[in-house]
Amino acid sequence: MNITIVGTGYVGLVTGTTLAEIGNSVYCVDIDEKKVEAMKNGVVPIYEPGLEEMFLRNIQAERIFFTTDLKEALEKSEVIFLALPTPPGEDGSADLSYVLKVANDIGDLMTEYKVIVNKSTVPVGTADKVRDTIAAKTDIPFDVVSNPEFLREGFAVEDCMNPSRVIIGSTSEKARNIMAKLYQPFTNIGVPIINMDERSSELTKYAANSFLAVKITFMNEIANFCEKVGADVDLVRLGMGSDDRIGHRFLFPGIGYGGSCFPKDVKALLNSGKQEGYDFQLLDATENINKTQKVILVPELEKYFGGNLQGKKIAVWGLAFKANTDDIREASSLDNIKLLLEKGAQVVAYDTIAEENVRKILGDKITYAKDMYSALEGADALLIATEWPEFKNPNFSLMAQKMINKAIFDGRNMFPLELPEQNNFFYKSIGRKLVT
Ligand code: NAD
Repeated sequence: MNITIVGTGYVGLVTGTTLAEIGNSVYCVDIDEKKVEAMKNGVVPIYEPGLEEMFLRNIQAERIFFTTDLKEALEKSEVIFLALPTPPGEDGSADLSYVLKVANDIGDLMTEYKVIVNKSTVPVGTADKVRDTIAAKTDIPFDVVSNPEFLREGFAVEDCMNPSRVIIGSTSEKARNIMAKLYQPFTNIGVPIINMDERSSELTKYAANSFLAVKITFMNEIANFCEKVGADVDLVRLGMGSDDRIGHRFLFPGIGYGGSCFPKDVKALLNSGKQEGYDFQLLDATENINKTQKVILVPELEKYFGGNLQGKKIAVWGLAFKANTDDIREASSLDNIKLLLEKGAQVVAYDTIAEENVRKILGDKITYAKDMYSALEGADALLIATEWPEFKNPNFSLMAQKMINKAIFDGRNMFPLELPEQNNFFYKSIGRKLVT
């Protein structure tokens, strides 16, 4: 099939590449000229494991193309995916201006029937808004489908090639049939398609992300309480997760959730609730708890240094909001760094994958280390903000040689409790031991 993807970010580029991989011709449209030029030259603009190889293979096979010209792409495709940003507006509601602008352009440019598929995460009722926007511009028939995306950054290629389910929100039989044909290579291997109306589909995405944010936050609270009562959250987590009704995933406590999705989607659902006169108390609490949780180790650092972080050199391992991505949107590392700087500390950060993105925000307010050990040179303490695998089994003797003071504040519970202590480090993690 011939497909257009509008927006080549984490969702659009991975969706486009995997759809090309299964034999479709994919036209990727983006307004960012530099990005399009780079992609035409075989440069992948994001870090996503496994993407580059697949991307280059499909460029070579002439199944994926890049352009800034929406008209050119539309003419060649029947199915148009929107993978556009929906960032939070000032009141927390999802900003639909990107989606509606492109809907407007499609209305202007389309010359024959199209299926417009919304992959962006959007509030209930957006399919209607997209439909109205296009219909105001043209009499040519078209359908609007809600097809939310559930990929995880860091596993995006794997998730797009092996989705757990495909949600199709559409009441048009014609559009459903086209979508079924498009997803046939997946349904063929057992991936279920769940058909529903547009509104239920739109809400499914917010409900799924908000539920996961609540699950993480619940476990963070249990971890905080473990510290009060001298329980070990690792044992509680294993005990809880062994119940099939709960499961082991998303029970790992830490310094809060970040990223481009959970914070924004919780905010947007809260806001949708407000607009409908519904008070999502659970989501309100989740958002507030997460804000505090993200920087929960800073008071611990202060306490350790007798209430004063002025002039202390803090090494930060990990800047990405989670491992295996260069995405730093709403990353806990940033909240911690900002607070540490406010309190007069100096920060040396290490994260080769996410460093470039952080430099764009923090510039030379902090320094950047080339490797995890050089970040520790002369450091008074180490703060771990991202669970990159390379941090799992470090050389503690080398760390001890580099650091002025042997203290680790671990926001991602990377080490067995006894390991840093055996190496004579002060070690504070989340929910695993009462430190007085
Ligand atoms: P992103 O910011 O990485 O990418 C968006 C792209 O759209 C950018 O390349 C931007 O230049 C382009 N763009 C903006 N306006 C445009 C226009 N008028 N025409 C063409 N291109 C335009 O965003 P993302 O992370 O891929 O997210 C896209 C949507 O998918 C959001 O609604 C998000 O909530 C949702 N989503 C994201 C993820 C994720 O893990 N990132 C997962 C599931 C769903």
